[in-house]
Amino acid sequence: MSFVIDFFEGGLLNLSLGPLIGVFLIATFLTVLAVTIYLHRCMAHRGVDLHPIVSHPMRLWLWLTTGMVTREWVAVHRKHHARCETEEDPHSPQTHGIGKVLFHGVALYRVAALDPEVIEKYGHGCPNDVPERWFYRHSALGPTVMALLDLALFGVHGITFWALQMIWIPFFAAGVINGLGHYVGYRNFTTDDTSTNLVPWGIPLGGEELHNNHHAFPSSARFSMKRWEFDIGWAVIQGLSAVGLAKVRRVAPRLLRDEAASLDAETLRAVFAHRFTVMSDYCKHVIRPLVREEYARAREALGASKGQIRRLMTGDQRFFDGAKRRRLSEVLSSNGRLAEVYEYRLRLQALWDRSTTDPEALLASLRQWCREAEESGIASLREFARSVSAYRLATA
Ligand SMILES: [Zn+2]
Ligand SMILES: [Zn+2]
Repeated sequence: MSFVIDFFEGGLLNLSLGPLIGVFLIATFLTVLAVTIYLHRCMAHRGVDLHPIVSHPMRLWLWLTTGMVTREWVAVHRKHHARCETEEDPHSPQTHGIGKVLFHGVALYRVAALDPEVIEKYGHGCPNDVPERWFYRHSALGPTVMALLDLALFGVHGITFWALQMIWIPFFAAGVINGLGHYVGYRNFTTDDTSTNLVPWGIPLGGEELHNNHHAFPSSARFSMKRWEFDIGWAVIQGLSAVGLAKVRRVAPRLLRDEAASLDAETLRAVFAHRFTVMSDYCKHVIRPLVREEYARAREALGASKGQIRRLMTGDQRFFDGAKRRRLSEVLSSNGRLAEVYEYRLRLQALWDRSTTDPEALLASLRQWCREAEESGIASLREFARSVSAYRLATA
């Protein structure tokens, strides 16, 4: 009898609180790594291929700890990229509200995952083998097995252990990344969405913290882009790849500057691949200095603070409410020079939003943009236009 009571108190392992917390953190971190490496980088974006020795345990572990079905997760996530920040985005804080995405992210995920059209359109290329059909598709079964395992290993503490395991991914992936990763943090790239990098060191969430970098280069297996950023998911992929258990298919190309280069097809390639970097450079080197200059020169006429003007002119109008849009148009109509650089910004953006993919026509448009900008009366704009030709992609 006392054996039964002992068993229910501590389970087979009979761990005290410290080691129990340690095991919990390792277990949840393994789930985070499986989400970012297997579901996200390998299946949804095809940035890396995994050896079956790695992918099978990851699938099993995801089934046990989350019950998420690969095809559903992949489809919902691909739709997020394809319809980002629109009404059709499954979990945009812009359209659903940050509170809803942060705390009810799973409900939003479920709605999209249960839509057969979403699965049909975005769920291609996912496993349909025997383990998938017999076990992994039954999403309630995995967590049930996990509950029994937790109970056996940790006794009564296993119930709390299991409950926390079950809310870990829904809160941190569906809530924090999908919510806060489109809400707070810093942006390396002026992407056409509101994605942000939460912190430069992506460790607890497996590198998913670098969400703005990921939106700029979705199919890149590496999420870190700057020298000071760290992506633990990428470190694990490199480790696996070193021992032949992973094959990296795509990483974001590095952007270089060759000041002696002339504006040619190579420039066009670099400008298109790194269009969000180019736009960030434009905001940094053209809009910001001019806002400072005009604010010092004609503060009264502008009717807004320097920071406000900067945010209005470097932000994306699609995500502005009526008041912000009005303020932007007031600022632009009160200052011709600011209006001019804003106009050039829209024209530059229109270049890569154009439907044509004819490289000759695109190169001609880029050259024309640079020529006209170089003839403008605004020094920072002229300077930027002259520097465009130096953009190059690293060859290796
Ligand atoms: Zn996103
Ligand atoms: Zn993604």
